[in-house]
Amino acid sequence: MKESYQRLLQNNHDWAIDKRKFNPDYFNKLSLGQSPEFLWIGCSDSRVPANEVTNTKPGEIFVHRNIANVVIQTDMNLLSVLYYAVDILHVKHIIVCGHYGCGGVNAAIQQKDFGFVNNWLRSIKEVYAKHKKELEAIDDLERRERRLVELNVIEQTNNLAKTRIVQRAWKNGSLQIHPWVFDCANGMITELDNKITSISDVEPIFRYDL
Ligand SMILES: [Zn+2]
Repeated sequence: MKESYQRLLQNNHDWAIDKRKFNPDYFNKLSLGQSPEFLWIGCSDSRVPANEVTNTKPGEIFVHRNIANVVIQTDMNLLSVLYYAVDILHVKHIIVCGHYGCGGVNAAIQQKDFGFVNNWLRSIKEVYAKHKKELEAIDDLERRERRLVELNVIEQTNNLAKTRIVQRAWKNGSLQIHPWVFDCANGMITELDNKITSISDVEPIFRYDL
């Protein structure tokens, strides 16, 4: 009997053959390079694959995923991806996509000890603390958690706007930052009301004199 991982290799083999069958040039074109228009910062959750939920093809979206789609200013991985996407690939849009039912947000809203992961979840707790008044006015705990998912996405888009990388891109051209939430219950993405398009959307203390 085949092991489960072998199914993935078989699928890959079938997929590659299928692609070539319909478009013999497919991989020749793919191997020439990438020029994606979008950077996607999403959750590592297996239910929210960037290309699949947006019905896009390989080459269209540059992707970074971590637990609960957070943007932490000291995260070298995130910053390297952001730099490469903005400065080298010149993406036009950055999407931060959270999702309802996020395990990371669910863990962060509790006081339970999750060991090492506490460090990662800490930034989501900061979002909670910042919006405590609004969140604790929501009695229904599921609705409160859904709102924290939304506020977390919004705060992460704000964090992106505070980076030198994004502010330099604004100086040299245009770059839009979009907060989105995916709903596993119906497959739909909702745009949140915090689109960031220029330095005027950033609190003055975070604006750099570039
Ligand atoms: Zn998640």
